Amino acid sequence: MRYTSAAIEALIEEFAKLPGIGRKTAQRLAMHILQQHPDEVEKFASALVDVKQNVIHCSVCQNVTDRGADPCSICRARGRDRSAICVVESPSDVLAFEKTGHYRGLYHVLHGVISPLDGIGPDHIRIRELLSRLSPEDGPPVSEIIMALNPTVEGETTVLYISKLLKPLGVRVTKIARGIPVGAELEFVDEATLSRALEGRSLL
Ligand code: ZN
Repeated sequence: MRYTSAAIEALIEEFAKLPGIGRKTAQRLAMHILQQHPDEVEKFASALVDVKQNVIHCSVCQNVTDRGADPCSICRARGRDRSAICVVESPSDVLAFEKTGHYRGLYHVLHGVISPLDGIGPDHIRIRELLSRLSPEDGPPVSEIIMALNPTVEGETTVLYISKLLKPLGVRVTKIARGIPVGAELEFVDEATLSRALEGRSLL
């Protein structure tokens, strides 16, 4: 059933486009917004616009950061092990590893995986940017690349592709342990399992 207000209907349609939001939840959210104080709604609306205008990719690790904070806070942090780079698919995966509190190295976000069926080749993800980080002008050379991609066919293809590129360059390439269920997404794996997978990584 459609609402008697085109404005409400439009808002419901926008909410319903979000992942995991069905029509019913979208209706509830729209009604919630309608009942909120105008200041709160204003804050919500500007947060949406702000995230598109001010979030960029870190020029070093390609993770998300704010305009004006590039390199990102992890790349700039003192006390991190700059000789290790953990390669992940998405910014959410960085968050998952940071939550474990066990990893002190750096990251590299690929923003996807190689997927020929979807027309995504090596040049469509941030592999070139990873290669350019191996011998930084300042700081120690990178000695270990930890591949931590989701255990999918595309993830495995990407791990193999990258390790073939890296091995001749004399970099140690490791892969996080199994124990992450096949098809599971890293960002939804619990912290203990993720820590164990990291500790149990093996040489490729
Ligand atoms: Zn960074």
